[in-house]
Amino acid sequence: MNRSHTIAGLRDRPNIAVLVIGGGINGISVFRELALQGVDVVLAEKGDYCSGASAALSRMVHGGLRYLENGEFKLVRESLLERDRLLRNAPHYVAPLPTTVPIFDIFSGLANGAVRFLGLTRRPSRRGALVIKAGLAMYDLFTAARRLMPTHRFRGRAETLKKWPAINPAIRNSATYYDAWVSRPERLGLEMLLDATASAANARALNYAQVSSTGDGLAITDTLTGEALPVRAQLVVNATGGWIDLTNMAIGAAAPGMMGGTKGSHLIVDNDELFDALGGHMVYYENEDGRICILFPYLGKVLIGSTDIRVDDPDQVRCEEDEQRYILQSLAFVFPSIKVTDDQIVFRFSGVRPLPASEDSFTGRIPRDHFCEFVEPAGHLPATLCMIGGKWTTFRSFGALAADMALKRLGLVRSKGTQDMAIGGGRDFPTDAQAWCASFAAEHGLSVERAGALLQRYGTSARYFISHPAGEQMLPHSDYSASEIRHIIEREQVECLADLFLRRTTIAISGGLSFDLVNAVLDMLTTHKGWSAGEAATERSTFLTLLADRHGIDLQTHQRSALCA
Ligand SMILES: Cc1cc2nc3c(=O)[nH]c(=O)nc-3n(C[C@H](O)[C@H](O)[C@H](O)COP(=O)(O)OP(=O)(O)OC[C@H]3O[C@@H](n4cnc5c(N)ncnc54)[C@H](O)[C@@H]3O)c2cc1C
Repeated sequence: MNRSHTIAGLRDRPNIAVLVIGGGINGISVFRELALQGVDVVLAEKGDYCSGASAALSRMVHGGLRYLENGEFKLVRESLLERDRLLRNAPHYVAPLPTTVPIFDIFSGLANGAVRFLGLTRRPSRRGALVIKAGLAMYDLFTAARRLMPTHRFRGRAETLKKWPAINPAIRNSATYYDAWVSRPERLGLEMLLDATASAANARALNYAQVSSTGDGLAITDTLTGEALPVRAQLVVNATGGWIDLTNMAIGAAAPGMMGGTKGSHLIVDNDELFDALGGHMVYYENEDGRICILFPYLGKVLIGSTDIRVDDPDQVRCEEDEQRYILQSLAFVFPSIKVTDDQIVFRFSGVRPLPASEDSFTGRIPRDHFCEFVEPAGHLPATLCMIGGKWTTFRSFGALAADMALKRLGLVRSKGTQDMAIGGGRDFPTDAQAWCASFAAEHGLSVERAGALLQRYGTSARYFISHPAGEQMLPHSDYSASEIRHIIEREQVECLADLFLRRTTIAISGGLSFDLVNAVLDMLTTHKGWSAGEAATERSTFLTLLADRHGIDLQTHQRSALCA
């Protein structure tokens, strides 16, 4: 269904069962759950889908080793179960990730861990080998019944330095265990949304659509045209993450403050020495201040993060200078001989963790679990179900929980579950990817490498992204073809360059932008949208400003350094 049909449908049929506000991963998850049960559901997202926290994660699909020391055992068990489901249901985007923890002490953290369990301190301390061993043993125990990946192992100093020669020589041991990572979380959200709308005529979704109160009801405002569309829902789901309190205010829900979000920033760096030093592992380490930081190979570059800072306005976050310094300084602690220079940073990103309100002075100790709360109907507003907290990893179980509460309220029963439901291009995913690529390449006249790239980008949906089997036309300075971009523009609700470069593809995050590519894609988008030359020029400058302000990318410098490389 295209945008104008969805909008016309809302004009004709404003009475709906459920209005989901927020198109991050959790809003999309509850939307999919309700759509599958045949519920008349509308999702409205004020920006693009998965453009808030759901684009800012560390890209780990994990149990959360460090949540064990907060006593969040239920959350870790549930996260590991969901991680393993994602490895099966979205194998095109979620893959195992060997993770190594460098250890600099043996006993440290033991006493601190014990007093923390007794509630006597919230202060983080250096985690020693015994504490890490206990955590990893628990991790292995939680996954014992369905072992998909190897159990943990410890290495002594000599073996660690042999495998990672650049690691801080003060190291005593290292521990390696398996978690997972997601290559394209924004695409996975979009594929779930497309699955839902394709399977249920009653499920409609709109990006660039902000929900607010009109005084005597609710309206969805199309932020591209300014048109306000009145809607009457039996139930509202507030899935706006870090914006939950602001949304409750905007719709007139009389709710107490529920959120206390913290900002986290990441850098993507292009440094071959660092990339090689990782040996294909994530390094999950403790900075000198006790905060956990991560670095891991991401699409040929290295992802490093993150920070944890309280913020009030989720719309204004970006990676600031002092955060960049903090992240690079933390790297110097674990790989002291490797220097990363500012011009090797190809992308910066930031987002707000939707954490529940908490007085805790150590942000790392705020619970990462999720729960839902009803705000009862008042005046024109129906009951509002607020989705609070949560991790990306647990989006399915959180969406299912919210859907069950919504169904109960509406007097409906669940008919389908999503535990074993493949997502988008994860359907019919081959067990032998090499054989699949060879046969796909032969069938479509492509090289096997190109078939492999398409499989990684779109899973088994790759066939929809190639329209000219013989002789694909590649875009300038890019390994994306014109037909891939055309398919994305026509089928994936793209409204601007940022949707395409930041979320439908990994071009920006992996440092692949150039003026020529931006211009080529802008031409395609302009033709599709019927923009005038003036509108196209405005779009171009809006995108370049966004890149500079929010992601620290100055294409001019970027292009110059690429030419010098
Ligand atoms: C720095 C950082 C690192 C993280 N790392 C990990 C990790 O490695 N692994 C993991 O599992 N989790 C991680 N998380 C947590 C995870 O990203 C979030 O829990 C998850 O993405 C939250 O999704 P959401 O849908 O609740 O919120 P969001 O993705 O923020 O979505 C909320 C949406 O609501 C929209 N909205 C707001 N107001 C309105 C309105 N009035 N009308 C319409 N729409 C509105 C916003 O535009 C936004 O898109 C991390 C989070 C951060 C910030």
